[in-house]
Amino acid sequence: MPNIKCNVTECNFNQAVECSAPMIQVNRNNTGSTNNSDETKCETFKPKS
Ligand code: SF4
Repeated sequence: MPNIKCNVTECNFNQAVECSAPMIQVNRNNTGSTNNSDETKCETFKPKS
């Protein structure tokens, strides 16, 4: 997977501000259609255990 920079350091997959998940799922953020990045979300987010 290409390097994904992610500032969500609360996520269990975040390592040094990069995503370490083998794959991520991104979806619309409860909108019918999306026009900007604010309306998207990473569904692979998992809280640190
Ligand atoms: S799973 Fe999503 S929220 Fe978590 S580090 Fe990767 S890109 Fe960021």
